[in-house]
Amino acid sequence: ASTDVPRLGPATSVDPGAPDRLAEIEARDITAWFGDHKVLDRVSLTMAAGGITALIGPSGCGKSTFLRILNRMHELVPSAKLAGEVLLDGEDIYDPGKRLIDARRSIGMVFQKPNPFPAMSIRENVLAGLKLTGTRMRRTDKDALVEACLVKGGLWNEVKDRLDAPGGGLSGGQQQRLCIARSLAIRPRVLLMDEPCSALDPTSTRVIEETMLELAQEVTIVIVTHNMQQAARVSDQCAFFLASQGQPGVIVEHGDTTAMFQSPQDSRTCDYVNGRF
Ligand code: ADP
Ligand code: MG
Repeated sequence: ASTDVPRLGPATSVDPGAPDRLAEIEARDITAWFGDHKVLDRVSLTMAAGGITALIGPSGCGKSTFLRILNRMHELVPSAKLAGEVLLDGEDIYDPGKRLIDARRSIGMVFQKPNPFPAMSIRENVLAGLKLTGTRMRRTDKDALVEACLVKGGLWNEVKDRLDAPGGGLSGGQQQRLCIARSLAIRPRVLLMDEPCSALDPTSTRVIEETMLELAQEVTIVIVTHNMQQAARVSDQCAFFLASQGQPGVIVEHGDTTAMFQSPQDSRTCDYVNGRF
């Protein structure tokens, strides 16, 4: 780790409610439906604290659904139903006694298509999440937070002289890094990334991969990717999702990324990681 990168600071300076430590996230026996259509069947996976877990597998096997279940976004679809548990450091985020906002503020999300608020300034974009979570801060603390998040997002040097310029004026790769910075401002303990580089050029992709590797020391990362080289470059663990014809998605194999790529245990994993799907 480089020492000149400012950390995000103690939780108390940003959000008194958020514990300042890495969290493990565990999915237990997740079964999910859209209406009568079962799309995941008893999927269990532990995503280690401070690691990067890659979710891989063909389109339609339920990776995005699984990721959205991890921060209760699944609930936004009216027809969605769910069984199973999601434990954030042992606490079920679906516990009826838990407020949705507490789950959401612990678990940030970045999507395939960069989605900054285009008319808002770069600075306002980074701070947007604080409004949603009702966090109040002094101006100087906000400035420090904006800088720390943009440094962490790998964007600071490119935008420090134009923090009041609109977020929509940035390139695609810069917009995605702004979205990462925005997701960090609420000090999440887990960062979910759904194909964050699929819409980006190779150079931006590499910058974001480096950013992720730095970030993994402060936040647990779960990334969906179709890029096997990317999974191999960034992740410690990997889970291979598959939905056989007409069947719901399951995890065929999971474990250490290097082991899974070099000596997959299941012939279907072997085919997939070697591009034969
Ligand atoms: P992946 O991310 O692996 O491509 P998804 O999780 O997007 O897979 O989709 C899994 C299955 O769930 C697919 O059959 C898809 O059509 C279905 N699905 C996803 N989102 C919805 C939704 N909002 N409403 C109904 N079906 C959905
Ligand atoms: Mg998807």
